[in-house]
Amino acid sequence: MKYTIALIKGDGIGPEIVGSAVRVLQKAGEKFGHSFVFREYLMGGCAIDASGTPLPEETVAGCLASDSVLLGAVGGPKWDKNPPALRPEKGLLGLRAALGLYTNLRPAKLYPALSAECPLRADIVAEGFDLMIVRELTGGIYFGERGRREGKFGPEAYDTEAYSVAEIERIARVAFETAKKRRGRLVSIDKANVLETSRLWRETMHRIGAEYPEVALSDMLVDNAAMQLVRCPSQFDVIVTSNLFGDILSDEASQITGSIGLLPSASLGDGTCGLYEPIHGSAPDIAGQDKANPIATILSAAMMLRYSFGLSAEAGCIEAAVDHVLAQGLRTADILGKSGARPLGCTAMTDAILAAL
Ligand code: NAD
Repeated sequence: MKYTIALIKGDGIGPEIVGSAVRVLQKAGEKFGHSFVFREYLMGGCAIDASGTPLPEETVAGCLASDSVLLGAVGGPKWDKNPPALRPEKGLLGLRAALGLYTNLRPAKLYPALSAECPLRADIVAEGFDLMIVRELTGGIYFGERGRREGKFGPEAYDTEAYSVAEIERIARVAFETAKKRRGRLVSIDKANVLETSRLWRETMHRIGAEYPEVALSDMLVDNAAMQLVRCPSQFDVIVTSNLFGDILSDEASQITGSIGLLPSASLGDGTCGLYEPIHGSAPDIAGQDKANPIATILSAAMMLRYSFGLSAEAGCIEAAVDHVLAQGLRTADILGKSGARPLGCTAMTDAILAAL
């Protein structure tokens, strides 16, 4: 098969880590008989410098015409003081909207070889953990009406959360389908004891759940979920939650894996074109020094193969290559911990993954 992939390298370490993922995709393509055609587009700080806008029209058009999009990261101190419309992350929000991406998938897995990096006590993570957070990405309080006004006690600010039945239904289906392909357990997280949006969320999750008898659905309040993630993370398989709660819980889950340099993500809509990117930022402090960990971006490319192209065996092969190099004790500087290993650069780590592949 032939697939066209839009590459947005972005800023900071973006070009290095996307370069690594491209090498891995090319190798996987050779191995399995697929051809990947890569087209590069600008977004973020580099696009502001080149064309005065964080999201040039040709980037949107190019992504829409591609089978999927692989992104490094955007942003950096150079653009930190820009006005809101000229900030690098404006490009990312614009691209998500243009591609209609309403689901964010964030896996968080503790690799046995890296259990010493986990900030939780060894007995808590003795079994390891491997969970997937399905976060609603385009609704809720981040997109509701907001403003400033004169209130009862003087000037006040307000933000509003609204969720339609249709928005909850579509994210519910993604979550149930995801759980079906994993261990068949789904926890829906809300604040139904207080929020009306959460009560509608819970009601809708259970109604859709009736269509998926093979998935065990349970509910959890968000405050409890924040505790359970650090008390016993292995209890979770798939978590589905709103935009705001997902934003917070997915960062908590990433932290307990030990390194943000390892974690991929996918943003999906109704079509097969998705946006795949590491969860970390552009790491300007190590940019251009061959120190970045390429694994999060390589695993993002693997997610693209699985979720956008339906190539599960190919994705599994890349994931197994990453497992293999970590089990061998190979480390980049961010996951060195107390291992005593000699840190590999971005290129050498990519070479090792290619060899394992
Ligand atoms: P960051 O994730 O870029 O870096 C935090 C720390 O983690 C740094 O010390 C960095 O060196 C390290 N780190 C991150 N990724 C790494 C990797 N692959 N390998 C090794 N070490 C890694 O977060 P930050 O410093 O808060 O943000 C830097 C810039 O990135 C900002 O401009 C921010 O707005 C932007 N950002 C972009 C995205 C995105 O593009 N999706 C996400 C988050 C932050």
